[in-house]
Amino acid sequence: MFRAVLAFIIAVFLVSVPQVQAEENVLRLYTLDCGKVKVLDANIMDDTDSYTGSLNLVASCYLIQHGEDYMLWDAGFNPEAIAGVKDTDMFQPKIEKTIAESIAEIGLQISDISKIGISHNHFDHIGQANVFKDAKLLIGAADFDALFAAEPAEGLHPAFIDEWSDGENVTKLSSDHDVFGDGSVVILSMPGHTQGHQSLQVNLKNAGPVILSGDLYHFKDNYEHGRMPDFNWNREETLAAFESMKKRLVDTGARFIIQHDPADFASMPKAPAYLD
Ligand SMILES: [Zn+2]
Repeated sequence: MFRAVLAFIIAVFLVSVPQVQAEENVLRLYTLDCGKVKVLDANIMDDTDSYTGSLNLVASCYLIQHGEDYMLWDAGFNPEAIAGVKDTDMFQPKIEKTIAESIAEIGLQISDISKIGISHNHFDHIGQANVFKDAKLLIGAADFDALFAAEPAEGLHPAFIDEWSDGENVTKLSSDHDVFGDGSVVILSMPGHTQGHQSLQVNLKNAGPVILSGDLYHFKDNYEHGRMPDFNWNREETLAAFESMKKRLVDTGARFIIQHDPADFASMPKAPAYLD
């Protein structure tokens, strides 16, 4: 009997140790469907006026598993706020499922999300942030400060993310940030679209480095021609961020995913599938 118990303990030890090590090393990138958006006048996406007609874009969010940690990257549209959208509105978003519903398909609960990284403070990237109120918020310092200014600029929606309005449980960033301290997931400071805009680099083992654009570019044509929207915060800073990103893409050979681009979104495996 004793031998049998001992053998069992050894067997459990042998089986369980590699599993624990594997869990610690897990790095996965899940792509979540955060909806679609029709832009009534495509030309707002170019401050040099080269577009006509309307434009159909997607909204994508991402979930990074790092060992036992889960970090959400961007928080999509606010379901209640988009309920009353009209055909005459400039932005006409639609969503089929919430982020909470998407992560449930991976077997996760809201409380499993320990970090939420935000590319920038626009409504289509913070809409469901408050759902994940116990997570640590990682956001550009200038974007945080703009949201919670005494009088926020028109078009900002601090109510979508006001669980962090007291500044507690927030990491405010103004330079690149190594999220887990091992170089695997790095927030890149890319100001210009907004003052505190950020992109995200995920250095996957099998798939290689992937960079998520935030809204550095909105779709492929923006990227290919170096175009930016009318509503960017600063043109010169945006151009500098374009150069910085181009250099990084050459240096790293990273796969570049433009978060609003339908073809880039289509090219990614969708949760519960992932890249690792
Ligand atoms: Zn956006």
